[in-house]
Amino acid sequence: MTIVDAVAEPLPRAVIDLAALRRNVAHLSARFAPAETMLAVKADAYGHGLLPIAEAGLEAGATSLAVLEVPAGLVLRRAGIGVPILAWLHGADTDWRAAIEADIELGVSAVWQLEAIAAAGADRPAVVHLKVDTGLSRNGATRADWPGLVDAALALQERGIVRVRAAWSHLADASIADDEAALAEFRDAVAEAERHGARFEVLHLAASSAGIRMPEARFDFVRLGIAAYGFSPFDDSTGAELGLVPVMRLEAPVTEVHVGGTTHARIAIGYGDGVPTLGIAKTTVLLNGRHCPVIAVEVDHMLIDAGAGRVAVGDTAVLFGPGDSGEVTAEKYADWAETIADEMVTGVSARVPRVYVS
Ligand SMILES: *Cc1c(COP(=O)(O)O)cnc(C)c1O
Repeated sequence: MTIVDAVAEPLPRAVIDLAALRRNVAHLSARFAPAETMLAVKADAYGHGLLPIAEAGLEAGATSLAVLEVPAGLVLRRAGIGVPILAWLHGADTDWRAAIEADIELGVSAVWQLEAIAAAGADRPAVVHLKVDTGLSRNGATRADWPGLVDAALALQERGIVRVRAAWSHLADASIADDEAALAEFRDAVAEAERHGARFEVLHLAASSAGIRMPEARFDFVRLGIAAYGFSPFDDSTGAELGLVPVMRLEAPVTEVHVGGTTHARIAIGYGDGVPTLGIAKTTVLLNGRHCPVIAVEVDHMLIDAGAGRVAVGDTAVLFGPGDSGEVTAEKYADWAETIADEMVTGVSARVPRVYVS
């Protein structure tokens, strides 16, 4: 019997620079102060890995965390994270009782959610953040429904079933004028709730965009997402121009080299790993210091044109990163693929190992 050399499967990897994350969070938290920073770690921390990012963000000055759904919040609690955690995306399966008993604060947009909270029979009051729609039309009570939501929450507060901690909303970030109109709408909704007897402990409205450019929208804390990961929330500036450093570097090994008039290399990453197939004609990857055009993206590999460059199996190609070795940023790669950096990093599939460096 012939024993074939066992070769480790060549895998792509996403190198996550926690020092860069800490730097971005510290820089932005200082800018937002005296408002605090709630770090958004939804969607597995935008693809960077929930727990390492949450821990690094808290070390760097964030004072609370935002997830979409309760189970992600429970993962954080089970890991020993004690700061306030807000979850706001609820469905028929939401385990309200587990959330309340783990002190996950609940974004609430509709009376059915309050009814579910009351029915959960938890051993303590649910801490709720009442969400009003200020024009984004996404997951918030309409102004018509808002007074009813406030009244229902206050009635449950009377009975010790909830504690109404916050009023909040989300901005569309479409334009400064839109955000200013939404800010006025938010203030108006808060005043209306106060006339109904609400006494909010905190108010929050801004995500990265308004947190950076609209100080009056910061209120008690900014829900910081994409900028923490090193990318600009604005169309007309880059993360670098805002003093931010991309946290993720996506790279893959060369697995085959075909030398001919021009050298073609196969690298071990494809659309199954989250690499976009759009815009290939414009796309390059960095290999041994050269920007090599992409010829094709398949499910588990890419074919690139290394020209006259020297390439060997095992060399590392870099798709995007902070840019300090000449590679493009995810913002640039996203331009080629007609998407945004958020989607580039969040789309890197779970099969790609995350490797953490500080
Ligand atoms: C994702 C999200 C954020 C963070 O948004 P960024 O634009 O990435 O900073 C804040 N608040 C809510 C409700 C969100 O869904």
